[in-house]
Amino acid sequence: MSEHKVVIIGAGEAGGQTAISLRQGSYEGRIIVLGDEAYIPYERPPLSKAFLAGEAELERMYMRGPEFYPQNKIELRLNTSVKTIDRTKKRVTLINGEALAYDKLVIATGGRVRKLSCPGAELPGVHYLRSIDDVIGYRDQLVAGANLAIIGGGYIGLEVAAVVIKRGCKVTVIEALPRVLNRVVAPEMSAFYTDVHRQAGVNILTSTAVTALEGQGKIEYVVCNTGQRIAADLAIVGIGIVPNIAIAQAAGLNCDNGIVVDKFALTSDPDIYAVGDCSNHPNEILGRRLRLESVPNALAQGKAAALHILGKPEKYAEVPWFWSDQYDLKLQMTGLSEPGDTVVIRGSMPERKFSACYLRHGVFVACNAVNMAKDFLQSKKLIAAKNQIDPVKLADVSIPLKDMAV
Ligand SMILES: Cc1cc2nc3c(=O)[nH]c(=O)nc-3n(C[C@H](O)[C@H](O)[C@H](O)COP(=O)(O)OP(=O)(O)OC[C@H]3O[C@@H](n4cnc5c(N)ncnc54)[C@H](O)[C@@H]3O)c2cc1C
Repeated sequence: MSEHKVVIIGAGEAGGQTAISLRQGSYEGRIIVLGDEAYIPYERPPLSKAFLAGEAELERMYMRGPEFYPQNKIELRLNTSVKTIDRTKKRVTLINGEALAYDKLVIATGGRVRKLSCPGAELPGVHYLRSIDDVIGYRDQLVAGANLAIIGGGYIGLEVAAVVIKRGCKVTVIEALPRVLNRVVAPEMSAFYTDVHRQAGVNILTSTAVTALEGQGKIEYVVCNTGQRIAADLAIVGIGIVPNIAIAQAAGLNCDNGIVVDKFALTSDPDIYAVGDCSNHPNEILGRRLRLESVPNALAQGKAAALHILGKPEKYAEVPWFWSDQYDLKLQMTGLSEPGDTVVIRGSMPERKFSACYLRHGVFVACNAVNMAKDFLQSKKLIAAKNQIDPVKLADVSIPLKDMAV
């Protein structure tokens, strides 16, 4: 083994993938992964789905089994937090004071949950959802009859609602904006998901902001700006994440809503990369920079960083995509829609099999496919092609998306 050394900060999917891709690419030096959680790299999506439902074992969430890392000479150091990066001496310092030298450094620190700041936010019974330990901490309390308040009507909040309503909990979703999934989908999609949840028995409150949490020794009520006091045995807060960029900022790396990287995941320092939720990267297809919070992005950027370190650079330029599972609905999203896009629905909303397609100045830019796997797959190429699309033809579900270009 050569003495060349890659140090990876963060043992999530982006950090894990970087290490895996380095070895797959026959990297011969040392690979050291430093992660502050107690677990080997794992997939977070099941946390709000099968793992929360108690239907997935811990082992099923691991990217690779525990034996993979020693077999591939990947040095995994868990419960290990990096405190500083010294770019001049090319070393990182751990919270316990130990220093570790690197030749190449990969920052894969992800994000942490955005916290509620209203009075009562620190009461016992107020929970978040980012890690295995979070879910293990409250999963057993989600029993029939329990009052659960979900604060935030984004994907995570709605996925939690879909799981716990089946367990017989009394569920209220509280969303400050006028509609759920406000940031990411068209009003038609928000209305569809609101109806689905209401039919399942979830109480959805929109345009309703939480002003305080109250209770004697633990949460009992969520108080809203509408005057409502909602009974809550526990609350799960899902109001987004903030990227973990403090150590990068302190090291003087260029940061702007994430650590700024190029198409190879390289930061403003030629020996340091940043990948996954913590990075802000250029997307050639979309023609702008963005910070994405998705597994496909974490994996693709991890691969891009590894290839660059291996001296076989391949630019990262993919159509962003994401998925969400709620009830029997498999939502797969490609591209990024914006307010003002024209929305065309293909298929049948009542039959729960349709796609919301987004056109911007006549060009196909995004697709939300609900139980429409083919549309999801074909939409990626259509977005990358940037063709003008006839909206009437687009609405005709008998014409495959791949045959759509005019
Ligand atoms: C509940 C939930 C459901 C999701 N569902 C989906 C989904 O359906 N589809 C999808 O595409 N995406 C989904 N996501 C998003 C997806 O999981 C993330 O985009 C992805 O995990 C990002 O990976 P990452 O490695 O960049 O960051 P992270 O997974 O956040 O990993 C970063 C790791 O670095 C550690 N770390 C941070 N700072 C330090 C430090 N100084 N020293 C050492 N370690 C440090 C963190 O503790 C963490 O373990 C979901 C996320 C959550 C939380």
